[in-house]
Amino acid sequence: MASVTYDHITKEFGNVMAVNDLNLQIDDKEFLVFVGPSGCGKTTALRMLAGLEEITKGQIKIDDRVVNDVPPKDRDIAMVFQSYALYPHMTVYDNLAFGLKLRKTPKEEIKRRVQEAADILGIGELLTRKPRQLSGGQRQRVAVGRAIVREPKVFLFDEPLSNLDAKLRIAMRSEITKLHHRLQTTFIYVTHDQTEAMTMASRIAVINKGTLLQLDTPQTLYDHPDNMFVAGFIGAPAMNFFKAKLRKEGSTLIVDADSFNLPIPPERMKAFQAYVDKPVVFGIRPEDIYNPDFVPPGIHVASVETKVDVTELMGNEIFLYLLAGSDNIVARVDPRTDFHIGDKVQVSFNLDKCHLFDPETEQAIR
Ligand code: ATP
Repeated sequence: MASVTYDHITKEFGNVMAVNDLNLQIDDKEFLVFVGPSGCGKTTALRMLAGLEEITKGQIKIDDRVVNDVPPKDRDIAMVFQSYALYPHMTVYDNLAFGLKLRKTPKEEIKRRVQEAADILGIGELLTRKPRQLSGGQRQRVAVGRAIVREPKVFLFDEPLSNLDAKLRIAMRSEITKLHHRLQTTFIYVTHDQTEAMTMASRIAVINKGTLLQLDTPQTLYDHPDNMFVAGFIGAPAMNFFKAKLRKEGSTLIVDADSFNLPIPPERMKAFQAYVDKPVVFGIRPEDIYNPDFVPPGIHVASVETKVDVTELMGNEIFLYLLAGSDNIVARVDPRTDFHIGDKVQVSFNLDKCHLFDPETEQAIR
C-alpha cells in the first residue's frame, strides 16, 4: 500500500517529448488508469515509475521517498506486461516462484505465497503446466500471479488485456476489479481503451501528446469534459461536434449551426454569455439524441431535421448515422425506432446535456 507522486515529470527521447511536465498524486489504494491514444506517453509514464526508464526532469515519489535513483527491484513495485513475459521452459509454479527465489525468500514462504496467488486467481490446477499448455487468459492470470506473489506496495499494469479476445477481455476486466478490491493495494493501469478505463478506474488520467489533459472520476470525465479531446475520447460512439455560432434572440441564446438552430436552456445561459456572436463548437453525445417518440420526461429537447444514412440494430438499441446538411450525426436510439435508410426524420437533442467549446483553445465553456 502506497501513494505515488509525479512531480513535474518530463521525459524526452532525443527531441521527442514523450511526457511533458506531468503532475499527479495517486492515492494509497487507488485504481488509477492512464488512458490516451497510441504514442501519447502513458507507457513511458508507467515505466519511469517502475524504474525501467530514466527521468529527464522532475521527481517520482513512492510515499514520501524519492525513487528517481532507486533500482527497480528495490521500489516494491510489480508490473504486469502486455506480453506476459512468462518463461516458456518453466512450469506455472516455477514462473510464479522465480522472482521470490532470486530474492532468496525461504522455500516455505514461497510455497505459501504461490498457493495463495493460485487460489486468488483460480489457477491451482495449472501449477505443473508449462505456459504453452495454457490458454491466453490462463497465461494472463499467471502473469498477474507473478505480481501478486511479490506482495508489492503498487501494482502496475501495461495494457495487460490487449492480447485477449473481446469476450475474455470483459471477463478479465471484472477479475482485475475484484482483485483490486481484495488486495486493497494501489493499482496503476495503462490502456488505450476508454471502456477499460471507465469500467475499472477510481480516477482516470487522460493523456494526449505527453500532456495530462484531465484527471478525474470516470463519471465526471463523461459528464464534464474539460476540453474537446477528453469529450471525444471518453464515450463510445464519440460525442458529435458541430461548428456553430451563438446569437441572442430577445432573451434567448441560440446555437446557430449549419443545419440547425437550438435554444440554450435558460439555466445554462449565464455561462455562455461571453460567447454571444462568437464561434463555438457545439457537442452532444449520441445517447443524448432521441427518437421524438421515446423522449424521457423532464428534459429540454429541440428537434433537428435529418436524413437517415445508415441504421445499425444492436438489439438493446439502434445506432443511427444521420445527415443534416453537411454535418454527420450519430445517435443511439430506442430499439423500437422504425427508421429506414433515406427517410427524412426529426430527432430530439437533449439540450440539458449539450456541451460548448471554444474553437480556438478547444476548452469547455462553462
Ligand atoms: P502505445 O499505446 O502505442 O504503447 P504509449 O502511449 O504507451 O503508446 P509511449 O510508448 O509512452 O506511448 O511513447 C511515447 C512517445 O515516446 C512516442 O512518440 C514514442 O515513439 C516515443 N518513445 C517511446 N520509447 C522510446 C524510445 N526508447 N526511444 C525513442 N522514442 C521513444
